[in-house]
Amino acid sequence: MTDKPLISVSNLSVHFSIGGKLFGPKRFVRAVDNVSIDIAAGTFFGLVGESGSGKTTLGRALLGVYPLAGGHAQFSDNGVEYDLSNMSAAELKDYRKRCQLIFQDPYAALSPRMTVRDIIAEPLEVMKLTSSRKETDERVREVAAKCRLNLEHLRRFPHAFSGGQRQRISIARALVCNPRFLVADECVAALDVSIQADILNLLNSLQKEMGLTFLFISHDLSVVAHTCDHVAVMYLGQIVEIAPTKALFSNTRHPYTKALLSAIPHLDPDAEKTAIKLEGEIPSPINPPPGCKFHTRCSFARDRCKVEPPEWTKIDDEHFVACHFADELSL
Ligand code: SF4
Repeated sequence: MTDKPLISVSNLSVHFSIGGKLFGPKRFVRAVDNVSIDIAAGTFFGLVGESGSGKTTLGRALLGVYPLAGGHAQFSDNGVEYDLSNMSAAELKDYRKRCQLIFQDPYAALSPRMTVRDIIAEPLEVMKLTSSRKETDERVREVAAKCRLNLEHLRRFPHAFSGGQRQRISIARALVCNPRFLVADECVAALDVSIQADILNLLNSLQKEMGLTFLFISHDLSVVAHTCDHVAVMYLGQIVEIAPTKALFSNTRHPYTKALLSAIPHLDPDAEKTAIKLEGEIPSPINPPPGCKFHTRCSFARDRCKVEPPEWTKIDDEHFVACHFADELSL
């Protein structure tokens, strides 16, 4: 085992063009803007932020779904290396066997016209990873058992299952080609709380058993606290704070992270309510504010924040914050 991260991202940007010709001047949506993160092999890496902060775009860019507008993303696994900014079609095809996505909505993610067996087997058949139906069936049964699905479930159609069971089918489909890296995009957000715990425990045990690496995307910090080793907080396409999970929760240094943490509901109804209300909507990524992108909603913003983008401030070994006043603010 090497110390090299499984995924190493530096200054990565993903832009989408809109407009042009009949639809006015061409403009760019800066969905991900200059992001740098390292994801160590065999860990859960959490990515949190509001809707529209760019989490899903970053996750999909790391799966090779979107072309990179700038920067690099490197995948390294036991001598197998891919540079996502420069991949041939054949390399991309091979890379996709090693990386998979678990979708948010288990109701929309499964074809109602296919049996569970066919749904799980589909990646093997599309990527031609098995040489016979017998081999495909063996692999499907093996991965279904890992995801706590019975043999009789394989003959049924998705409508016969609850949300939690459908998400286990989705997970089995993602795991069937034996990937190394999984992007779990809000994969428990559509489930009841008790079922969420069941799916998170399943992912945890699969991660240990199969040595998987997860990019765990969520808007819910309480779920991330339960699951992840490291967390990056994203705002308007940029990472604003990154730290080991414990450090992020115990020593929060960015006002945006503090606002997200303060929104976690307490079990005790008499507990002091200190939720920090974020004023207004997240600004448009087509025309982001200058300086610190968070200054339009930050109650600590000063004149400097409006013109100068913050550099990274090192708080601790693996704890970094993008705020001019990270050392001064008492949050
Ligand atoms: Fe707030 Fe300024 Fe820090 Fe940005 S740099 S988070 S606006 S205090």
